[in-house]
Amino acid sequence: MGKLDGKIALITGGFEGMGLVTAQRFIAEGAEHVFITGRRQELLDEAVKIMDRKKVTAIRADASKVADLHTMHNIIEKKKGGLDIVFANADSSPQIPGSKRHDINMRAQLAGHLTGIRHAELEKISAALNLPPPLEEGRHNKRDKELLPVVQSFTSKSMSTAIQEAVSAARTTDLTVSGDGTWQTRGFSSKHGAAALVSVSGSPKVVDIETCSKTCNICIGAESLLQSETAEAQAKYDQIITTHQCGKNFDQPSGNMEASCTLKMFQRSQKKYGVRYVKYVGDGDSKTFSVLKKQKPYKRIEIEKLEDINHFGKRLKCVLQVIKRQCGRTKLSDGKTIGGKGRLTVQIFSKLCGYTGFYTENIMISFDNERLHSAKKEHMRKQRKLVNLSATNIDTSEEDNTTASDADNLGETSDEDNAGQSDDETSDEDSDDTGDEENDDDLDQDVEHLYYNPKSRKWKDSDEDN
Ligand SMILES: [Zn+2]
Repeated sequence: MGKLDGKIALITGGFEGMGLVTAQRFIAEGAEHVFITGRRQELLDEAVKIMDRKKVTAIRADASKVADLHTMHNIIEKKKGGLDIVFANADSSPQIPGSKRHDINMRAQLAGHLTGIRHAELEKISAALNLPPPLEEGRHNKRDKELLPVVQSFTSKSMSTAIQEAVSAARTTDLTVSGDGTWQTRGFSSKHGAAALVSVSGSPKVVDIETCSKTCNICIGAESLLQSETAEAQAKYDQIITTHQCGKNFDQPSGNMEASCTLKMFQRSQKKYGVRYVKYVGDGDSKTFSVLKKQKPYKRIEIEKLEDINHFGKRLKCVLQVIKRQCGRTKLSDGKTIGGKGRLTVQIFSKLCGYTGFYTENIMISFDNERLHSAKKEHMRKQRKLVNLSATNIDTSEEDNTTASDADNLGETSDEDNAGQSDDETSDEDSDDTGDEENDDDLDQDVEHLYYNPKSRKWKDSDEDN
C-alpha cells in the first residue's frame, strides 16, 4: 500500500521540475488521480507522456489568474468530484495586473537602482543566489525608461509628504534641515555628485534631493559622430546637441558639488513647498554653510547653523590635541606642564569630546536593562574605577608621544585608548566583587551617563529606565 492510496491531487506547475517529480511520486505512492497545470500546452503534453495517462489530467491554466482557477475547479469537479491534496507549486512570480511583466523582474530592477548596480551585476547576483537570470539587457534598459517617471513621481510625492509632516511637527513653515552630499566616485574627481536635505522636525525624512553632473551620455555619444568628418555627420551632431535634454548641469570643481546642490534646494524651497529652511545642521568640514551664508537664499533671513554633536566633538578633540602638542613639556604660567594630574589628560579629552566608546556602551545598556542587568553592574564598576583613575592619572612622557604621533588620526587614537582601557579594567575586574546596587547609586552622575532616546527625542540618564 502506498501513502496516498485513492487520493486525488492537484499540482500547480506540475509539468516540469519539482512539480513534475512530485506528480510522478504521488502516482507511485498510489494516488488515484493527479491534475497538473501549466500555461504552455506543449510542455503539459510532454509531461503527460512520461506518466500513466489514465492517472494524469493536464489543465492549461495560469494559477495566478482567477478566471483560470474557475476553469481548474470545473474540470476537477466534473472529472473527480473533489480534491484531497493541493500542492501549490509556484512556477513563476505573479504577473503585474494589466501587464505581461512579472513582479520579480520589476522588483529586481528596482533593487538594482536602489543599490546602485546595473544589469551585469544583477546577473551575477541572480547566479550567486541560484535564481533565474534577470530580463535580457535590451528589455531591461527599455523597462528602465518606463520605470524612471514612476520612480520620479513617487519620489516627489514622498518628499512633499515629508515636508507636510515636518511643517505640522514644527508648527511653522520655517524649518530646520540637515544636509549632506555624496559623490559617485570617492574624491575630488567625481563626474557626478548628489546632495539631500533631511527634515529635523518630526521623524527624519528626505525632503529634497539634487544632483550635479559634469558629463552627459548623449553629448558623449554624439561627439563620436564627428570622427567621420562629413557634412552629414556634422548636421546629425548639431541636431542631437540642440534638441536633446542635456544631463550636464555643472562645470565647477567636484568639491563644490555639495554646496551647489544644497544652495539650489534652499533657493527653490519657497516656490516648491512654500517653506524656508532657516536652520541648517551640517558637518563642519564642508563649505556648504559658508556658501549659504554668502548667497542668502532668503534675502533678509540669516540662516542659522546648528552644530552636529559628532563633528563638533571631533573638531574639539582635534584642536585640543594640537594645543597639547604645541605646549609639549613647556612650563605654563603656573609653572606646570599642560599634562599631568588634574590637567589636560587623555581622559579629559575623552570626556570633553563625547568619548564614543562610553557613549555606545551607555546606549546598549539602556536598550535593555533587563537582560543586561549584570552587564550594567559591571559597567558601573568600570565607570567608578575610571573616575578614580582619571583623578589620579599622571601623564607619562610615553603617553605624550602617542598623542602627538596619532593626533592626525583621531579615530585610531580613541580606539586604541579604548582597547587599552578595557583590557586593564577587565584584568582587575576578576578580583573585584564588591559592586552592588547601593554602591551604584552613590556614583556621581555626569554627562557620560546620558544617552539619546530616539523615541522620546530626549537626552536621558541611563539609570532612569530602572
Ligand atoms: Zn548633453
